[in-house]
Amino acid sequence: MSEKILDLIIIGAGPIGLTCGIEAKKNDLDYLIIEKGVLVNSLFNFPTNMTFFSTSLLLEIGDVPFISHNIKPTRQESLEYYYRVYQSWDLKGKFYEEVLEVERLGDIYRLKTNKATYKTRAIVVSTGFYDIPRLMNIKGEKLLKVKHYYDAPHAYIGQKVLVIGAANSACDAALELYYKGAEVTMSVRGESISHRVKYWIKPNIENRIKEGSITAHFNTTVEEIKEDAVVLNTPEGQIEIENNWVLAMTGYQPNFDFFRKLGIELADDGFLTPVHNKETLETNMPSMYIAGVINSGLQTSKLFIENTRIHAGMIMSDLKKKIEVAVV
Ligand SMILES: Cc1cc2nc3c(=O)[nH]c(=O)nc-3n(C[C@H](O)[C@H](O)[C@H](O)COP(=O)(O)OP(=O)(O)OC[C@H]3O[C@@H](n4cnc5c(N)ncnc54)[C@H](O)[C@@H]3O)c2cc1C
Repeated sequence: MSEKILDLIIIGAGPIGLTCGIEAKKNDLDYLIIEKGVLVNSLFNFPTNMTFFSTSLLLEIGDVPFISHNIKPTRQESLEYYYRVYQSWDLKGKFYEEVLEVERLGDIYRLKTNKATYKTRAIVVSTGFYDIPRLMNIKGEKLLKVKHYYDAPHAYIGQKVLVIGAANSACDAALELYYKGAEVTMSVRGESISHRVKYWIKPNIENRIKEGSITAHFNTTVEEIKEDAVVLNTPEGQIEIENNWVLAMTGYQPNFDFFRKLGIELADDGFLTPVHNKETLETNMPSMYIAGVINSGLQTSKLFIENTRIHAGMIMSDLKKKIEVAVV
């Protein structure tokens, strides 16, 4: 076990973890970013052909210009960009290393990963929400044909695919699959396509539904998924349709068990918002901060990269004060 005590460990190398690394570097802190997957692991696992709803300008971090072919960048461009950021700032990261446990030892923390143990004075938790899909808890959801992550359309050519949901991920997938020759049916809980769907996607999906190219069942829930069919509860009653694949685009949620393990309290506000000071982003655990999309708990569409890039600066001004006091 290393006896060295770091100033800061950042858990998660997403865009916001990287901004925290940049701020730590600017302030000469002895820091380390620990990531359980690859650099910007969530973005790496986004659908292959995805285009961001944000402009590249609003995804920029660390004063590194993000030049993309169009105003809104693609996933591939974002991977290239955040690698450039990592390189330009010469950030210190460990990859394929998962933080499993954190223990408080007086004024410091001991972190255990699947590979090593570290000691640190402060922690930023920036673990995102893309690792845990929101389940529907219905019969058949565990079948191998049910996917909670959509990658690319090729595997679905000529297949009967049920897309569950009507937000961005569901609409992107439904359209891409339709254009690649899949027979697409959508099961939508509400009465329409979500108003939050990207403005250049919404009319397209609505028109494909109107002309009958994509079948959509609104005000509908999925009752059961079978090997070769799905059962839907529609306003007209229960129907069973033939089916090869189900793409459950029902959203994702932060790893609340991990927060509990770290000692972070979750608010009783219906969203399990991690308890934190709104100005400093410090949690109920001293010198343990939270940053990025996780700060709004289950309200995952409230915070994104665009509006959480400021978190690193907020954390660092508080942490700097603490370090100055400790030195004096
Ligand atoms: C399909 C999709 C499209 C989106 N498009 C946009 C957009 O256009 N604009 C926008 O602003 N936002 C967008 N978002 C929302 C959000 O901004 C992104 O999810 C973004 O990745 C959040 O950044 P983050 O750094 O907070 O978290 P993440 O990027 O999710 O980073 C968290 C990191 O922590 C790692 N991690 C988790 N647990 C551990 C652990 N125990 N130990 C070590 N590492 C761990 C994860 O592997 C991950 O790499 C989109 C989200 C999705 C799902």
